[in-house]
Amino acid sequence: MLNFSFQNTTKILFGEGQIKAISKAIPKDAKVLVTYGGGSIKANGVYEQVAAALSEHTWFEFSGIEPNPTYANLMKALVSIREHDVDYLLAVGGGSVVDGTKFIAAAALYEGDDPWDFIAKGQPIKQALPMGCVLTLPATGSESNTGAVVTRDGNKLPFSSPLLRPLFAVLDPAVTLSLSDRQISNGVVDAFVHTMEQYLTYSVNGKVQDRFAESLLLTLIEEGPKALAADTKNDLDVRGNIMWAATMALNGLIGSGVPQDWSTHMIAHELTGAYGIDHARTLSIVLPAVMKIRKEAKRDKLLQYAQRIWNLTDGDEDTRIQRAIELTEQFFTAMQVPTRLSHVDLAEAQIDGLIEKLTQHGMVKLGEHKAVTPDVSREILVAAL
Ligand code: NAP
Ligand code: FE
Repeated sequence: MLNFSFQNTTKILFGEGQIKAISKAIPKDAKVLVTYGGGSIKANGVYEQVAAALSEHTWFEFSGIEPNPTYANLMKALVSIREHDVDYLLAVGGGSVVDGTKFIAAAALYEGDDPWDFIAKGQPIKQALPMGCVLTLPATGSESNTGAVVTRDGNKLPFSSPLLRPLFAVLDPAVTLSLSDRQISNGVVDAFVHTMEQYLTYSVNGKVQDRFAESLLLTLIEEGPKALAADTKNDLDVRGNIMWAATMALNGLIGSGVPQDWSTHMIAHELTGAYGIDHARTLSIVLPAVMKIRKEAKRDKLLQYAQRIWNLTDGDEDTRIQRAIELTEQFFTAMQVPTRLSHVDLAEAQIDGLIEKLTQHGMVKLGEHKAVTPDVSREILVAAL
């Protein structure tokens, strides 16, 4: 196992009715800005629950944070923050709202000229407003991690800082019942791919991490399709297991002390940046291709994955690996997401532009061995055609 330090300070408030708990989780003298998206929280009653919980607080709101949040829109929140002396942020929504609020938290106290510099130029984030969140879409893990992704002019870029980890996260599975099938699928697939990117590398004998990761993969494979099936989709245990799995998939635990390979996410971000395809639907296209093209580097872990996740023990190694990749694709298909570029109407002609963007964004040595150069990324995209 590799050396690591692990600390996750986000207080998780899990279960039905837990939105009430934010009244105690946020200091009474705070001036709170509640941030949210396009209005789903008004339609499903979450807004009312938040308003009731904040009845003794001073609070303001900033709405309209869009999926794949953009710099230009998020910067508008700074006006409200200055006007009202806001000193605490409460994000209510999915990963886009939580990520966007992380950007706002850092941008509000940024001392340089342009907050985009802490994303594009890696300028340090030295301070940030404290934030908590009410998660409404299990997927990204953003509710208890330090990372976020923001888009400016088609450039979708990640940033992170320990100062951006939410202080608390309400995980109430009941608020996910209003999700569309498309968003349920997206969430399950995003969490599955997060787990794979911390698992499917090379072995350093991180047995605990491997088995945690396998438990998350098995849970998502079992519960994901149930959240789409008519007779089980409203089962709060199904929703709760998915919600907790998605948080655990990217809260730092399973990635501690093991190699990580975020090439699927980084290549996939270019597909969203350029074509606006849902985040998870780009991951389900890129991951199977990464498994194929990086097969040799990942051989031992692919065999472990084949055996422990898909019970594949018969046949030679290559047959088992190929079958495990097919079963991964079948799982994605059962979750109603695309697995090929052609499924989202993209073809070979688009690959040059995507590679150019990856290179521009400095994504030129990806993967656990830093071996995924632009040429390898090209092979991956060709395999995804
Ligand atoms: P999302 O973009 O936050 O939300 C997608 C849609 O779902 C929105 O239209 C939203 O509507 C709707 N929605 C959310 N909760 C709902 C509910 N309970 N009922 C009905 N509709 C609901 O989706 P996401 O997958 O959670 O986040 C994706 C973003 O996170 C991407 O930008 C991705 O790159 C990023 N990401 C971040 C991390 C990280 O570690 N920080 C990791 C992976 C991905 P409203 O707008 O009305 O709320
Ligand atoms: Fe993701």
